[in-house]
Amino acid sequence: MTQYELQAAEALKFIARNEQIKTYLQSSDLYPLLHRAAKRFVSGETRDEAISRAKELMAKGYVVSLEYIGENTRMENECASAKNELITLIHSAGECSVQSTISFDLSHIGMSIDPELALHHLVEIAKESQLYGLAVMISMEESAKTNQILSIYKNAVMKYPNIGITLQAHLYGSDEDIKELLNYPGRIRLVKGAYQEPTDMALPRSKRLDQRYLQFADTIAKAKHPLSIASHDAAIIEEIQNRNYLEHSHVEVEMLYGVQPQLLKELKDRGYRSKVYLTYGQEWYLYLCHRLAEYPPNIYVAIADMIEPNRAQVSPY
Ligand code: FAD
Repeated sequence: MTQYELQAAEALKFIARNEQIKTYLQSSDLYPLLHRAAKRFVSGETRDEAISRAKELMAKGYVVSLEYIGENTRMENECASAKNELITLIHSAGECSVQSTISFDLSHIGMSIDPELALHHLVEIAKESQLYGLAVMISMEESAKTNQILSIYKNAVMKYPNIGITLQAHLYGSDEDIKELLNYPGRIRLVKGAYQEPTDMALPRSKRLDQRYLQFADTIAKAKHPLSIASHDAAIIEEIQNRNYLEHSHVEVEMLYGVQPQLLKELKDRGYRSKVYLTYGQEWYLYLCHRLAEYPPNIYVAIADMIEPNRAQVSPY
């Protein structure tokens, strides 16, 4: 990223979390325009919209992950309602044969209040998903939460092997974590890492990080452990193809809805298991800010989508 892009990314992260700015925007004429831009990255505000987009993608040969957007929920009733939304989502997906993965942050379902509450909700979600043959994927949050998330995962996965876990290649601690995680049955979703971390905890975006990502992918794929390559980086994807990992049935590639759709389409057309990470919910504003912050050139795309609403509606898949 250039210096200006880095500054824009920092500003967007600040805007995303500032409640005053959000309240102001919600009552302004800009909010509906931002909603137009969000449609490129979010399937809609409702579960029905998400399921219908999932069906469209599945008909084209993709597999899907569904996420109800939210994180850091601090009220017990809100955690319970997020969990209930996920349970209803599982029923809706299961009943119309949408073989989706259900993905979420543990901080959305109780971890910020009490780890036991998050574990309890996770088990409920995993149990319900098992009834429909669906998989569950736990997202990874800031490094301050890594150990707690891993511990909740390990507590649940032996009984519910349909639960998977996300591993961040940028964290130095992931060297030890990966060895441990290979002893558990759940799928590992490998990401570079989205959070700003202290320099003694994590590598920044760099060639070294890319090599580390590939080294982790190597370890997981060679162990014949279920693996999701979750990256939009064309160079990483090319190397993964050169190494023939995607030929294995236990390895899939996964990208966020609206990000690098052409690249994912090429992989799908080559017959690789290609997964679209599809989000929905009222918190689309937070999600849009994250997508713009992680790749500031998306700001240009967002501006064009705001002026020409149909652009974001045309499926690039
Ligand atoms: P980067 O090094 O960030 O980018 C490489 C290239 O990819 C860029 O130059 C650009 O060409 C392209 N690119 C990247 N992002 C975009 C974009 N938004 N729009 C357009 N092009 C782009 N992170 C976590 O910390 N925890 C999680 O649980 C988590 N779950 C994820 C689940 C999925 C399915 C995916 C795909 C990502 C997830 N992430 C998660 C985010 C991840 O950690 C990275 O921040 C994100 O994927 C960007 O890194 P990258 O590997 O795509 O490559």
